[in-house]
Amino acid sequence: MNKNDIVTVAITDINQDGEGIGKVDGYTLFIKDTVIGDIAKVKIIKAKKNYGYGKLVELVIPSEKRVQPRCQIASQCGGCQLQAYSYKEQLIFKENKVKNNLGRIGKVKDCEYRPIIAMEDPWHYRNKAQFPVGKDKEGNLITGFYAGRTHSIIACKECLIGVEENQEILTIIKNFMMEYSLEPYNEKTYTGLIRHVLIRKGYHTGEIMVCIIINGVKLPYGEVLAERLAVIPGMKSIMYSINKEKTNVILGKEIKKLWGEWAIKDRIGEIVFEISPLSFYQVNPIQTEKLYQKALEFAGLSGKEVVWDMYCGIGTISLFLAKKAKKVYGVEIVAEAIENAKQNAKRNGIENVEFFVGKAEEVVPAWYETTKEHVDVIVVDPPRKGCDEILLHTMVKMQPERIVYVSCDSATLARDLGILEEMGYKTEIVQPVDMFPQTVAVEVVCQIIRK
Ligand code: SAH
Repeated sequence: MNKNDIVTVAITDINQDGEGIGKVDGYTLFIKDTVIGDIAKVKIIKAKKNYGYGKLVELVIPSEKRVQPRCQIASQCGGCQLQAYSYKEQLIFKENKVKNNLGRIGKVKDCEYRPIIAMEDPWHYRNKAQFPVGKDKEGNLITGFYAGRTHSIIACKECLIGVEENQEILTIIKNFMMEYSLEPYNEKTYTGLIRHVLIRKGYHTGEIMVCIIINGVKLPYGEVLAERLAVIPGMKSIMYSINKEKTNVILGKEIKKLWGEWAIKDRIGEIVFEISPLSFYQVNPIQTEKLYQKALEFAGLSGKEVVWDMYCGIGTISLFLAKKAKKVYGVEIVAEAIENAKQNAKRNGIENVEFFVGKAEEVVPAWYETTKEHVDVIVVDPPRKGCDEILLHTMVKMQPERIVYVSCDSATLARDLGILEEMGYKTEIVQPVDMFPQTVAVEVVCQIIRK
């Protein structure tokens, strides 16, 4: 197979990024914008020894699994890789992805795979969006999203998985920038001021936060912008964040307030949470509640247990569990999040919790070394890269009866389950939750027990 060859191929599978997979005489091709079941005419754009990448030229026979993407820029934008699949097919893809990863990477066997918990309406679920600000080829100011695997911005007027207010907020910011001649940040020359706009909305409270990320120390005419944004119903907090680093990390560490509160509030179940810009908060409020209910169920608490919640963020899972446990300890690396966690415990009158700032893999081993306290249940909810191996070893040393693993990446989950299974633990139940409809991402919560 050579570059620029044109071939006709049947799409038989889908990879982790949502690209269709087809084989021509044993040679594997990855083809964006194709769906399992398509017969497609494809142009080879990159040919390696054993596999290559193709570009869709023409759909010879479209798959029955196909639907018309609702969003007009679904194919260019990197956000929703699965919009061309019906929701039912998306769910099948995710269940298979979890099973395949756990079996192949983790060698996990004989566990109960529960059907994925789906959304009734898989649109407009995201409570948070981070829009890069830039210019298009004609030099017009745009906000939008990065095109898949690139850093070029695709202008986006109405994101169908985001909240409605995003558009009005972005329009106000763009008009303000034009009026006061404020330049967007240029990622190549590191010049310009406005880098990103972060918007968060509390699903139950309706409270909105806007944070403008700037490559500078002050937002000129910030008070004018604040005045214009403040009239939007629900607006509670307007800030800016200073980020002068040459980095892909969006938020800078320094946050300044322009107007309103330092944080917004939201509710999950009966518990009210305060959320700062730097704190992690689950993006799908409807599914989060279902996820935490499962975590609680898998923790199997009777009221007598000592529990650790590792990678606890603003203490969401910790406080969810605290009402049913004797004591909950939480650890989290972001100091602001722990400040929120402590406030959240106080606000909800929960006293049997204790929070630590630091790396889980440093804080927990040191804590166990000094206290030797027996722990009944451990909950972990790490970022995509999964748990640090030192932490996994410490967890096993602590000998909890149950471990509840909440994961946003089934490949690293599988790796960690493999390690835990080698050390005397057994994966019992695997429960996927569809937190990110239209995208390839899948959340999983597992119950693991001591053998
Ligand atoms: N359980 C929380 C947060 C989960 S996200 C919730 O459901 O809301 C993962 C969290 O791990 C983030 O808050 C991140 O800041 C934190 N984190 C990342 N690396 C860490 C580490 N090494 N030790 C402790 N926390 C870490």
